[in-house]
Amino acid sequence: MSVERTRIVLVGTTHPGNIGATARAMRTMGLTRLELVDPQCDPLDPEALARAARAESVLHEARVHPDLDAALAGCRLVFGLSARSRAERHPQLALRPAAERAAGEGGDEPMAWVFGRERTGLTNAELDRCHFRVQIPADPEYSSLNLAQSVQLVAWELRMAGRQTHLGAAAEEQPAAADTLERFFDHLEEMAGAVGFLDRHNPELTMRRLRNIYRRARPTEDEVRMLRGLLSHILNPRRWRQ
Ligand code: SAH
Repeated sequence: MSVERTRIVLVGTTHPGNIGATARAMRTMGLTRLELVDPQCDPLDPEALARAARAESVLHEARVHPDLDAALAGCRLVFGLSARSRAERHPQLALRPAAERAAGEGGDEPMAWVFGRERTGLTNAELDRCHFRVQIPADPEYSSLNLAQSVQLVAWELRMAGRQTHLGAAAEEQPAAADTLERFFDHLEEMAGAVGFLDRHNPELTMRRLRNIYRRARPTEDEVRMLRGLLSHILNPRRWRQ
C-alpha cells in the first residue's frame, strides 16, 4: 500500500512549528517518513517538538538533505504541491485524483509529495523534478494554506484513497465477474420482455441504460444471485408460491 512507500518532503522550511505540526499531521494519518531539504531552522527546536506532540519520533527519524534530488533518490512518482496556478508547463492534478493515482500505483518504489517554502513555495526548477503539480482546490481568492495544514490534507486523502483500495481488494467485497453480469443482463432482458416493458420503449436503449445502472453499482456475486432470484420470481410467480 502507498502509505509505507510515501515520503513527505519539505523544502526550505523556515518555521520549526511548521515542521513539528507536519510530523503530527503525518503521524495521525499513519505516515512516518519525513525528508527535509535545506531546512532553515532546527527540526528539533523546542517549538517543533511541542507542535509535534506525540509524533516526536517522526522528527527524530527525519532525514536532512542538501538538495531536492537527494531527497527524491529512488522515487518512482513525485508530486509537487503548489497553491499557484502557473503557466501550463507542468502536468497538473487536483489533490484527490493525485492521491487515487498514488494509491493505485503498483511496484515497491517510494513516492514523494513535495511541499514548498512558507513564503515563496517551490521554484520552477523544483517543480520540474516532479511528475505532477498538485493543487489543493481551495478558494481561488485565497488558496494558500498553511504548510502543515496542506500536509494534513494530503495525508488524509492518501489514507482515504488507500482504504478504498484496501476494502475493494477484500475477497468478499469483489464485484461480480463480467460474465456473471452478462448472464444477469440476459435474464433482466428476458424479464423486461416478458412483462411487456421492452416493447413500449426502444429496447436497445433501455437495456443499455439498465446495464449502465448495474455496472455503476458494481454488485457482488452474491448480490447478482439475489437479483436473479428476484427476476425468476417475476418470470414465474406460481412456481415459487408455496
Ligand atoms: N506563498 C506560497 C505558498 C506557500 S504555502 C506560494 O505562493 O507558493 C507552503 C506550501 O504549502 C506550498 O509551497 C505548497 O507546497 C503547500 N500549499 C499551500 N496551499 C496549497 C494549495 N492550495 N495547493 C497545493 N499546495 C499548497
